[in-house]
Amino acid sequence: MSANRTAFPIIFVAILSVCLMFLIIHNTTSFLSLLSFPVASLVPFVCISLMFIIILNLAMRQALTMYVASIIAFITISHFYIIPGLKVSNENLKIVADSKHLLLSFITLLPIFGLIKIPAHRILKSVIYLFGSVIAWGFFSLVIAKLDLPILHVVERALSSMGIKPPFQNFLLSPLQFVLISISTMVLVILLIKSLHNVYLLAIASLAALAMVYVSSLSIILFAILGSVLCLFSAIITSRNMAFNDELTGIPGRRSLTQYAQEVSGQFAVVMIDIDFFKNFNDKYGHDAGDDVIKLVASKIAKTGNRGRAFRYGGEEFTLVFDGKYIDDVRETIEDLRVQLESYPMAIRIQNRPQKSASESKNRRHAPVKQEIVKVTCSFGIAQSSLGSNDFKAAIKRADSALYKAKKGGRNCVRTVE
Ligand code: GH3
Ligand code: MG
Ligand code: MG
Repeated sequence: MSANRTAFPIIFVAILSVCLMFLIIHNTTSFLSLLSFPVASLVPFVCISLMFIIILNLAMRQALTMYVASIIAFITISHFYIIPGLKVSNENLKIVADSKHLLLSFITLLPIFGLIKIPAHRILKSVIYLFGSVIAWGFFSLVIAKLDLPILHVVERALSSMGIKPPFQNFLLSPLQFVLISISTMVLVILLIKSLHNVYLLAIASLAALAMVYVSSLSIILFAILGSVLCLFSAIITSRNMAFNDELTGIPGRRSLTQYAQEVSGQFAVVMIDIDFFKNFNDKYGHDAGDDVIKLVASKIAKTGNRGRAFRYGGEEFTLVFDGKYIDDVRETIEDLRVQLESYPMAIRIQNRPQKSASESKNRRHAPVKQEIVKVTCSFGIAQSSLGSNDFKAAIKRADSALYKAKKGGRNCVRTVE
């Protein structure tokens, strides 16, 4: 099911149910109030959560998506007073945790939901994540609310008995809040170091921590709005990268090349590059070592000067596009690149293969890994746009026949087609 086809009806129902909410709040006729519980509580919560999930799904792990989506939906709904009667506070219900504890619980559980994985059927898992995250969040908030003051007293007494003046009166956070925020920050920083992608997690947590320090309706609404904007932003960037960058090498892929083809001016040079005897290389060293070589070659090609733009065309083939250039302007650059690649010692990790038995293949991860230095060469075919035409496909075809000439001519060389 595509995200767009799912998104539209859900966004529509979410908007409709929010409108119904306002109608119910302002018109308490008996029919509408009969409807009020299921429509007023569950429908907007599920719809708004789903809306967030669809937006976030591209960027995050499932548990985290569900968690952030359901909590932000909850905060949005409760703080805009969309659900009648949800405006509960410590005054009318003694055990309810206040906003500060709800936010603290949100920050603390954020890295946990970033890591957990429940082995269950897809739909069941989604339901568990959606409602389980809200229940876990609410429960943990209550635990924190119950423990916060007693822990403060214990710490203050302990410090006083040691003759130290407790610093918490002038401090923004209590000992429990300080410890939980520190642990969560540390875990989030570790996650961030492991993958830069987690930068938005840290940003959402920082927003929540700020809202917690200056706790007010306005700061919480701001947190919900900025948190959603941040998630949306990260989802857009991630989906764009996923669509336009090649997964293995990280350089722009075929889709980017197609788009770039529409942007180039009337004059350009295009180079097709193909790794020599790569099938033999795969057979000798294995597919993983082959992948490493493709990555290394891609990183070298991506650094080509002379304003060349590099793309992975597919497999072990790459394309360089030089906008506004003729063949003669790029010949030397490509010859330099060929020499660079030919003399570049590539360190690859090789696992002992082939595997002989099932038990050996089970132990593959523990098999000794050797490092070996290898050298690969590439063949190059250069073409340019024909006079008065910027037909990119035709230029690629000509570069491909130049590449064929290079292969025929013994490989590891550069050939051109005028
Ligand atoms: P030539 O010098 O004529 O180009 O010979 P070649 O063996 O490089 O050419 P061929 O097109 O026959 O083989 C290309 C090989 O590249 C086949 C395929 O196994 C390998 N290959 C394509 N994509 C990948 C990839 O993503 N990873 C790895 N490891 N190998 C790949
Ligand atoms: Mg090939
Ligand atoms: Mg090849």
